[in-house]
Amino acid sequence: MCANIVRRGLMLVLSSPSGAGKTTLSRGLLASDDAVTMSVSMTTRPPRPGEVDGEDYIFVDPQQFGEMRNRGGLLEFAKVFDNYYGTPKAPVEAALSAGRDVLFDIDWQGTQQLQEAAADDLVRVFILPPTAAELERRLKSRAQDSAEVVSARMAQASDEISHYAEYEYIVVNHDAEESLGQIRAILTAERLKRARQTGLSDFVHGLREAL
Ligand code: 5GP
Repeated sequence: MCANIVRRGLMLVLSSPSGAGKTTLSRGLLASDDAVTMSVSMTTRPPRPGEVDGEDYIFVDPQQFGEMRNRGGLLEFAKVFDNYYGTPKAPVEAALSAGRDVLFDIDWQGTQQLQEAAADDLVRVFILPPTAAELERRLKSRAQDSAEVVSARMAQASDEISHYAEYEYIVVNHDAEESLGQIRAILTAERLKRARQTGLSDFVHGLREAL
């Protein structure tokens, strides 16, 4: 991309039911694109084995979460299953104004709030599983979650999927590699939107001066 043209970063939201492959896709995108940073959410959910505080989530208790929310430190927040999740505001604002893109793994409730607060910066992508059976298989293969959690997540999947039409891009995740390519294509096109290339008028001015 035109590295010499100043641009404003965008907010790329990936939503899906749990188990549709969103975490793998997010990791793939982050590994392949230096201009993308992950928004690390704050949650009251206990860490799963292997999750790192400050990397996967900022793990807090309900009181700490409430304090952060009350002082206006969250860009959006929602209750998902029995836990609270929210996006700390300051790192997102810093990244966007530095021309970096921010990737969000948040649910439909948070996406609606971002749409109200920052529609121009937002690109919304919904990931669908290829089949219900595949979703169930992926949830069960995540050995960290108990059988109860898996069945609760299957029940929630249908609700989450009912919000697909609130997203402008839909990726059906048959194959992680192919889906990653599709998300990268979305990102490339969205970055090229004229309104995001805030340095364009200077660039074009320079071009015309030289003609
Ligand atoms: P998990 O507990 O499996 O990591 O996440 C459960 C759900 O919460 C996922 O659908 C995920 O997208 C959503 N989620 C994670 N962080 C946030 C957040 O900061 N805000 C909102 N609204 N949803 C989140």
